[in-house]
Amino acid sequence: MRIGQGFDTHALTEGRPLWLGGVEIPHDRGLAGHSDGDALLHAITSALLGALGEGDLGKHFPSSDPGLEGVASARLLERVLAMMEGAGFALGNVDATVIAQEPRLAPHLEKMRASVADLLGAPLERVNLKATSTDHLGAIGRGEGIAALAVALLVPKGEGA
Ligand SMILES: [Zn+2]
Repeated sequence: MRIGQGFDTHALTEGRPLWLGGVEIPHDRGLAGHSDGDALLHAITSALLGALGEGDLGKHFPSSDPGLEGVASARLLERVLAMMEGAGFALGNVDATVIAQEPRLAPHLEKMRASVADLLGAPLERVNLKATSTDHLGAIGRGEGIAALAVALLVPKGEGA
């Protein structure tokens, strides 16, 4: 088995849609970034890369690559899933936490979970999503950005999702 962890954070900025877990969340601001800024998918993708011993997102998808401008983060995740399959692994499970003061994510969590499970090609019970705030502490607590943490377990192909 292999385990990996991922962390990502993006600033909230006006004039951008808010994408989290491949779902557009209604909000007056969205996450800034070279891609669509989906911090949750980035944390999960980073965790998969970690489990594969394949470095980080920047190594595979450099922000200097004009071809990745505005790319849907789901496409990056797809590429890493292909690497995972090529390496002979399948997803065991993913557990992820989104840290946001605003918007309140609880009403959207199940939709985000279903979206992430769909993108991973995994049954729902192998994908767990949590949302928390920082209780108004720090930059995230002031609503300046959103962070996400993820842990992924990979198992030999044939024993996973
Ligand atoms: Zn990111």
